Amino acid sequence: MTLLLVILIIVLTVLVVLLVPPVRRRLITPTIMRALARALPRMGDTERIALEAGTVWWDGELFSGKPDWKKLLEFERKPLSARERAFLDGPVEELCGMVEEWKVERDGDLPPEAWRFIKENKFFGMIIPEEYGGLGFSALANSAVVTKLSSRSIAAAVTVMVPNSLGPAELLLHYGTEEQKRHFLPRLAVAQDIPCFALTGPEAGSDAASTKSRGVVCRGTYQGREVLGMRLNWRKRYITLAPVTTLIGLAFRLYDPDRLLGDREDLGITLALIPPDLPGIEIGRRHDPLGVPFLNGPIYGKDVFVPLDAIIGGKARVGQGWQMLMANLAAGRGISLPGLATGASQLCSRVLGAYATVREQFDLPIGRFEGIEEPLATIGGMTYVLSGARVLTAGAVDAGEKPAVVSAIMKAYSTEAMRTVVNAAMDVQAGAGISKGPRNLLAQAYGAVPIGITVEGANILTRTLIIFGQGAIRCHPYVRSEMEAVAKKDLVAFDRAFFGHVGFIAGNALRCLGHALTGSRFARPRGVDGPAAGYLARLTSLSAAFALVSDAAMATLGGQLKRREKLSGRLADALAWLYLGSATVKKFWDDGKPEADLPFMKWGCEKAIDEIDRALAGVLENLPNRPAAVLLGAFIFPLGMNGGPPSDALGAQVARALLDDREERIRLTRDIYVPPPDDPGLGRLEAALDKVMAGAPAAQALKAGIKAGKIAREPEATLLERAVETGVLDEAGAKRIREAEKARDDAIQVDELDPALWGRRPVAAPNVESYRPESAVNPSRAR
Ligand SMILES: Cc1cc2nc3c(=O)[nH]c(=O)nc-3n(C[C@H](O)[C@H](O)[C@H](O)COP(=O)(O)OP(=O)(O)OC[C@H]3O[C@@H](n4cnc5c(N)ncnc54)[C@H](O)[C@@H]3O)c2cc1C
Repeated sequence: MTLLLVILIIVLTVLVVLLVPPVRRRLITPTIMRALARALPRMGDTERIALEAGTVWWDGELFSGKPDWKKLLEFERKPLSARERAFLDGPVEELCGMVEEWKVERDGDLPPEAWRFIKENKFFGMIIPEEYGGLGFSALANSAVVTKLSSRSIAAAVTVMVPNSLGPAELLLHYGTEEQKRHFLPRLAVAQDIPCFALTGPEAGSDAASTKSRGVVCRGTYQGREVLGMRLNWRKRYITLAPVTTLIGLAFRLYDPDRLLGDREDLGITLALIPPDLPGIEIGRRHDPLGVPFLNGPIYGKDVFVPLDAIIGGKARVGQGWQMLMANLAAGRGISLPGLATGASQLCSRVLGAYATVREQFDLPIGRFEGIEEPLATIGGMTYVLSGARVLTAGAVDAGEKPAVVSAIMKAYSTEAMRTVVNAAMDVQAGAGISKGPRNLLAQAYGAVPIGITVEGANILTRTLIIFGQGAIRCHPYVRSEMEAVAKKDLVAFDRAFFGHVGFIAGNALRCLGHALTGSRFARPRGVDGPAAGYLARLTSLSAAFALVSDAAMATLGGQLKRREKLSGRLADALAWLYLGSATVKKFWDDGKPEADLPFMKWGCEKAIDEIDRALAGVLENLPNRPAAVLLGAFIFPLGMNGGPPSDALGAQVARALLDDREERIRLTRDIYVPPPDDPGLGRLEAALDKVMAGAPAAQALKAGIKAGKIAREPEATLLERAVETGVLDEAGAKRIREAEKARDDAIQVDELDPALWGRRPVAAPNVESYRPESAVNPSRAR
């Protein structure tokens, strides 16, 4: 009895301490706050600025453990306007027709008429409002233009993409003085000025803020007048459009040793617009980005003097360059490269759906082999996922979001998806994908893969450092408030955030267990029916699991988690696939839940669920605190993981849809450029596919006739005539087979190029004997 009373008193005391805020604030919160202050990672200025840039959007829901799917499904993105649609169907279509990627590669640049057309039609002014002479397009239209162009010419896509991404126009729009806007924007809109943006240098790549490009505030002479200005010295490399630029956007660190502007010497990263014809500037040489022929090169400046007016936003923006860059990257990364990756992936789906039907080996279209079905499923499934994520993200930007974490996810995972898709496509096209020339359809996309992966924040860094590192602080419902309260030493705010956080962890733990034990049955969102509901339920349970594992990783590793990049990379994978899974369902929903899209939607969701499962399991396997990992496992996977990757049967459905369902193949790839039938690449392949499909019933009848012994297969030269004579085929059927075979034979050819293209003719045919492997020449040595 006494013991019971003692236990009761202890329990009551603990409850009073924990549940009565004034008591707990006095007794335990200060100790926790001090401990957390020691454990929290130290944050540099550049990191803090990056964290403050942009907004939290659907990523916040994914971190919550119980995403509100209604919010996502009811989110209406602004559709393309009639003007934007007309631009895609008009000038973009026309530009695509003007560029032949192979010729562009041989010439090392777009043809002069394409450059003229780009300028006249304001391709460089898509993000510039109409009042400044630009096109004033939405993010969705901007991304759609890049998607279409990249399906035809990566060089054209990159050339158009760069002036419409982070660079002079974007920076002027947000930070320029009115005078700067009025002067530069109309010139940029019609490419009277060709911009480039120079941030990267030999010493500062991923760590761009460590730039050694310097400016020193001083007096000097500019255009005959003595003015207060900056003497600049820089070395920049990899700068797109640098070789032809007429307006350099330059990032440098500005110093004021003589205190001409104030009382600080190091003023911080500053951005300026520099004309390239000033004394001391050297440009014009080129880098060769893996043979993809857009213009890219270094820029050097030695003691270049410009007035302070050159600073974007004028004197008021001195030292604010990093904030300006981060704020604009927060949205920009979600537009251009995801557009390029989607264009390349849709092209691969379109090409491979046709090629695997037209190309036969072992007397069958190669698409009939299970081994080929597998990569085809990946190509089709990933294209569907990417297409959904592209429009969802651009739609969010158009709705006023600057979703920094989502944009970083899109940048890294869309370019990785492009790598997966293009590699699979190359494997299926084999020799025809490798042999370059006008007929080759994949070589440029293949060359562009590492470029997308490297630029705008290289993927390894983005995955392992940025996505979860920023997401955990920005999107988590409590972490940021806790950090701010610790920094301000605000005990009441800290107490509220910390104990809210404890409740959040407990709620997620119970939710995980409940969902796992009931097969997520009760997580089905209301108002959603069909297979999408089941997938959303599973994504809900994985969102709770992700939130719980994130908290456990942060709690057990504290500030160390920042250096545990392999763990934070896996957490980034989980968050990214939660987003990509959401985007997949959203696409299916917005497209009106078409029955024919079901295999694609299912494949995308199952792929996402498997990736999230594996990412979380990877964290648990490698979490240094083993008891915590075991406990987490019991809550998250009490009955094991969610069921593995998309099944073979589902993959087969996706592959069959790409191969056999003409409408579906076209719908999946509706954002690309389709050239006319006389085009040597896709045009010819599409025409051949039509003929092969038209001849398929007759070919089937012929095969059946041979199998039934009505006619002999040999001699092949007279097979069709004999088939008509014996009534196996009619004349029309034989004609369709002849046409199909002719088109097939044409479509599977690869280019044979003039040896002069390599600058010299090959040496005479080698002496075969001297090329034999040694073992063949001297068998005794082979042992
Ligand atoms: C074709 C092309 C066009 C470009 N256009 C422009 C342009 O117009 N303007 C411009 O300013 N720049 C441009 N860039 C530069 C581009 O942004 C950089 O290449 C990129 O930031 C990476 O820098 P780096 O190549 O020096 O790689 P590094 O910084 O040397 O990185 C090497 C590797 O280390 C990884 N890494 C680095 N730090 C970390 C970390 N803390 N944790 C984990 N991994 C890490 C990176 O992810 C990368 O995989 C372009 C580059 C190319 C190739």
